[in-house]
Amino acid sequence: MAEHPISIGSGEIEQVLRDTELLPVLERALANFSSEGGGGGVEQPVRSTVPVAKYNGFLGVMPAYSAEDDALVTKIVRFYQTTSSSASSHHATVLLFDPRNGILKAVMDGRVITERRTALVSAIATKYLKRQNLDVLCILGAGPQAVSHYEIFTQMFPFKQVKVWSRTRERVEKFVKTVKGPVQMCTSAKEAVLGADVVITVTMATEPVLFGEWVKPGAHVNAVGACRPEWRELDDGLMKSAVLYVDSREAAMRESGDVILSGAEIFAELGEVVKGTKPALCERTTVFKSLGMAIEDAVAAKLVYDRWEVKNKQKS
Ligand code: NDP
Repeated sequence: MAEHPISIGSGEIEQVLRDTELLPVLERALANFSSEGGGGGVEQPVRSTVPVAKYNGFLGVMPAYSAEDDALVTKIVRFYQTTSSSASSHHATVLLFDPRNGILKAVMDGRVITERRTALVSAIATKYLKRQNLDVLCILGAGPQAVSHYEIFTQMFPFKQVKVWSRTRERVEKFVKTVKGPVQMCTSAKEAVLGADVVITVTMATEPVLFGEWVKPGAHVNAVGACRPEWRELDDGLMKSAVLYVDSREAAMRESGDVILSGAEIFAELGEVVKGTKPALCERTTVFKSLGMAIEDAVAAKLVYDRWEVKNKQKS
């Protein structure tokens, strides 16, 4: 049979992908991924990344299969270090295959899937690892990931104040216009972090932007950037004093500069906390080091495809 994949663009994905539907699907996928002995039916190697050094870029290939969702997907991500705040640093394409025969069913724009699934996984970590009172949210970075995290965190949690910092004023002003909700613009990362109950780092930093001495004891940190073994967002002080959770132990030991260079010990995978096989030590300062997993893209893309199919059947 010839392959005639359908193409699903970001506008259509925005219409069919609901955060409320994706959240439990991701939570289940994290638990399946972290099931002992591969019992969760998830196949996922660590991402293969090719540097495009001449242009300060990287191309990553992220395949995964979830037996429970019957989702066979590869995401191809490209990320570039750029000095322009108007150019996108990340591009992603998701390929969805028919797991029964390997035929390519759909080619999807990966932007919306990546933005929503990353912020929802940070929200899942926060749901389990936060302390009771959540008054102040701090976001370091003001790009697309900062926007999706702002949207999801202000919907899911009762924050009274959101503080945002980025290196350039221009970027923060663009962020404020995009999110439309209340935001306190900070002139330094320290000002944004002091007193925060939850801190999210979503920068393209290669040196630490978040220092342990600023972090309120018992706060929860979602560290989302720094996906290269030599890149940092968090300093050694925070990495070593906090209880460290990761999405994938194997990936963290291979890709995360914050984990590798600090020598911090990994306490658990987030999926182990979701399953209940490892505790959530909420009274301590906690860090969730997110690198992003292909299985998250796989289950999100399958959900998009299923909802897109229903919508198109209704139309015809
Ligand atoms: P953008 O490139 O659009 O945003 C980058 C932000 O980082 C801007 O606020 C920019 O500030 C800031 N920044 C850029 N370079 C530096 C630097 N050297 N030091 C400090 N700040 C810097 O990225 P996205 O919003 O798309 O992604 C944010 C991060 O999340 C990236 O690291 C990305 O790789 C990561 N990511 C992680 C995923 C996961 O699953 N864990 C999934 C997708 C992305 P300014 O312009 O003001 O200088």
